[in-house]
Amino acid sequence: MNLKRYIAVALPVSMALCNNAFAQVSDYQIQPVSFTSVHVDDNFWAPKMEVNADVTIPYILEQCRKNGRIDNFLRAAHVKAGDQMTEFPFDDTDLYKVIEGASYAMQEKPNPKLDKYVDSLITIIGAAQEKDGYLYTFRTVNSSKPHPWIGDKRWVNEEVLSHELYNCGHLYEAAVAHYQSTGKKTLLNIATKNADLLVKVFGPGKLEAYPGHQIVEIGLVKLYRVTGNKQYLDLAKFFLDVRGPKGDAYNQADKKVVDQDEAEGHAVRAAYMYTGMADVAALTGDEKYLGAIDKIWDNVVTKKLYITGGIGATGNGEAFGDNYQLPNMSAYAETCAAIGNVYWNNRMFLLHGDSKYIDVLERTLYNGLLSGVSLSGDKFFYPNPLASIFQHQRSAWFSCACCITNMTRFLPSVPGYVYAKDKNNLYVNLFMSSSSDISLASGKVNIVQSTDYPWQGKIDLTINPERKLDFTLRVRIPGWAQQMPVPGDLYTFDNKQLLPVVLYINDKPVSYTTEKGYAVIKRDWKKGDKVTLQLPMQTEKVLANAQVKADVNRFAFERGPIVYCLEGPDNRDSLVQNIMIDKSAPASSNYYAGLLNGVEVIDVKGISAKRQLNSDALIQTEQEVKAIPYYAWANRGPSEMTVWIPYEASATSPKPAPTIASLSKVTSSLANKRMYAAIKDQYEPADSKDTNYPYMHWWPKNNSSEFVQYDFDKEYTISQSKVYWFDDGPWGGCRIPADYKLYYKKDDQWVEVKNTTPYAISKDEYNVVNFEPVKTTALKMVLQLPKDNSTGIHEWVVK
Ligand SMILES: [Zn+2]
Repeated sequence: MNLKRYIAVALPVSMALCNNAFAQVSDYQIQPVSFTSVHVDDNFWAPKMEVNADVTIPYILEQCRKNGRIDNFLRAAHVKAGDQMTEFPFDDTDLYKVIEGASYAMQEKPNPKLDKYVDSLITIIGAAQEKDGYLYTFRTVNSSKPHPWIGDKRWVNEEVLSHELYNCGHLYEAAVAHYQSTGKKTLLNIATKNADLLVKVFGPGKLEAYPGHQIVEIGLVKLYRVTGNKQYLDLAKFFLDVRGPKGDAYNQADKKVVDQDEAEGHAVRAAYMYTGMADVAALTGDEKYLGAIDKIWDNVVTKKLYITGGIGATGNGEAFGDNYQLPNMSAYAETCAAIGNVYWNNRMFLLHGDSKYIDVLERTLYNGLLSGVSLSGDKFFYPNPLASIFQHQRSAWFSCACCITNMTRFLPSVPGYVYAKDKNNLYVNLFMSSSSDISLASGKVNIVQSTDYPWQGKIDLTINPERKLDFTLRVRIPGWAQQMPVPGDLYTFDNKQLLPVVLYINDKPVSYTTEKGYAVIKRDWKKGDKVTLQLPMQTEKVLANAQVKADVNRFAFERGPIVYCLEGPDNRDSLVQNIMIDKSAPASSNYYAGLLNGVEVIDVKGISAKRQLNSDALIQTEQEVKAIPYYAWANRGPSEMTVWIPYEASATSPKPAPTIASLSKVTSSLANKRMYAAIKDQYEPADSKDTNYPYMHWWPKNNSSEFVQYDFDKEYTISQSKVYWFDDGPWGGCRIPADYKLYYKKDDQWVEVKNTTPYAISKDEYNVVNFEPVKTTALKMVLQLPKDNSTGIHEWVVK
């Protein structure tokens, strides 16, 4: 396509910084090599992009139709009658994101049928746009009785919940992708008409409000780049500068953006904001923005990053936790946040030219991002936990579908992260078999990568310049190949042996210098010159900083960029939480072509630990243990899984001995039977609000009478009940119950037990009730939920 490319580079950012903090410079000094120039044909990413194009995109388009996303637009366009809308005012973005993904995918592989369908969707979107450019179906359809999140006038709830500007941001991103991919201006015109309205409404002396959920900043910058209209860039900067200090940490509005130095609040909003700040810093040379995002980046990679590259530890606010707060089973690590983390780290690299940012990007890409979609392409994770005891599964759809549509727009853009360039420097950042045509200052070059990465560490690059060409090749030497899995001291390898990274030119080993993590090769390149990078691909045991409590006495397997996990189907009795592996156990890696679409597996000997009744001694048995790539877990049904493997008995969760409760059948007034097992799984909560282990709850019900019942496997004489309540107050919806009573079964009648101690109701401990012994086959608990809240149960023990 003859597309208007980015505005030419005039002044390097670094020079501009010396002069005026607001001097107009053109853009990132380093520019990504567009995904349109990089044709990936490897065995790892190409099949995944194909599944995305052939399965995921049509599937999501159909889901958008079935789940009312398209009807929202049809109603706003007065094509369809009625005012029944979907659940969330940001649902419009799902359609924008799938159009973005479809546009990228069509660039890779033309698809006239899809192209036509996208055109028809764009027509509907255009018809839903109001005359002055406003586009937000929820208000257009229902302005007289607005959704509770959106306020009775445009923008009044923007800083909190309306997501009006969030919708705009995704619209702009989709419009730019569609324009760049197809050359058509249909969606772009809708986007600029909308952005022109924003320029009229927002700004100094006009409406001075900030976006409640960031992303419009990134979108406006993209619109600026394709249109050259500087008002869009100015507005992006305004939306950042107007933020804080009187808002909430939840959406990074408690301080001015330039005064922020720690990652806090909602992780997706944060990552999009940092990305937008990098964009605006690159375009305006604003040094203060750089200072802030450099500090925040250090905070994330040294204290708030999962080994999988996931960010946002807690589901409470979908947010960053405290420093070193990285729980595994309750890890939130939202797929959208992983995608945001890739966007942000790529921008940080473009600003600084340092490979450490690509190290974080690669870690996220191959692990905590890729885990968000099933191998089949039609099941998705919203949170990406690092441990499970059956409670997590990918879903076919979420009413809040952000992660699903984000994944589908992201995957086709992966080739755009392989190379970058800066005048006469060509950066090789990611390794995947591909062929690319790249224009450098001195001329054009075709570069062919051939590799079995991430399974093998040998990467062959064939350089084919159009004529003899003098340029500098900068080949990234990954941190993981140099004892530095992540910049800083959050994670280290147990094995401290530094293995050589060897570089060959035309099959001869050469010595090389490194700058900012890149091997630098400057020469006169001629057609057919071959560079070979040999990375030491060996199985490593990763240790976390001792301040990460969740990972104490545990290690994780990593091989190259791939983080591993133990999953039930590959291990004895489908159990993994009870496995312990010695730190010095030799591990071998083997390629299994038939497993999970072909994966390198780690084989190692371990020990499984089991509890027995009436003894504290564990039964320990040696067993073969298999670890699979983390991204590929949860493709074989619900199972146990763990990334962090105990190497000390104190860190294992031995398989518990059977109890009356564990052998019982659970029935309850609660409809969701998947929660039943939680109350007898024998995982001890740390306190009542502990979400690390599964619990059962009646939320959102309140003020009602509910029951839960154990039918024993045989008749027992019992005289005690111990219950541990789930209570996630003050923010959550569950509290200890108002009241409860116990009944046992006597001749098919329920008879209240004669308690000899009171029914205590307190949180953070077992509530023990002793009663006169009864011989029975069932025990039932009847509870009264509090007036304004619900109740949950972590564990219920019967003796
Ligand atoms: Zn999401």
